[in-house]
Amino acid sequence: MSAASDAVRRALLRLGATDTAADQLLLTAQRLRALAQRSGVEHAAATDLDSGYAAGPIAGTADDVDVDVLLDQPRPDRRYILVHTHRSNAGFSDLDASVLVANRAVHAIGVVGHDGTWYLLAKGERFTPVDPAVVARLVRAVVVAARRPYLPRVASGSISPDVAKRRILHDTWRFLAPRLGLEYDRVTPRKD
Ligand SMILES: [Zn+2]
Repeated sequence: MSAASDAVRRALLRLGATDTAADQLLLTAQRLRALAQRSGVEHAAATDLDSGYAAGPIAGTADDVDVDVLLDQPRPDRRYILVHTHRSNAGFSDLDASVLVANRAVHAIGVVGHDGTWYLLAKGERFTPVDPAVVARLVRAVVVAARRPYLPRVASGSISPDVAKRRILHDTWRFLAPRLGLEYDRVTPRKD
């Protein structure tokens, strides 16, 4: 097991996955990533954080995957993690965050970049239910503020728009997650 997947496994255990579920999740994510790289479209799966049982994978479009089908009949006594791929290798969108807060049975969401970067967002002990539309608006507002210092650097060509997007979303979630009672984690295969 690589150092990065070891770090992801520890992060999954921290957010409440059992050993079995953490192992299953690493395998599921590997499969999602391979499918996404081959097809060029996002893939997603829902995994039970206790048993490790996974529903999916399902395919979406280049930049979106509709996870509602995975949550068709979630059992209220279960906790799920929804994992999907991002070819941008960037973190959670406003829409991703609203899926997490809108669904009681979804305890956490994960994103796996095509480059192997992992992002995790989980409901912490201080999480209280909140309107998903409000969360989506908050994310967009914080992105606008977080983007400001990067704009001149993108304009001058000192960093690429892709790198800027990854850093802006990372800064956004480091700021926003604790204020919403969420736990945010990123594991990168390399520094950037
Ligand atoms: Zn997403």
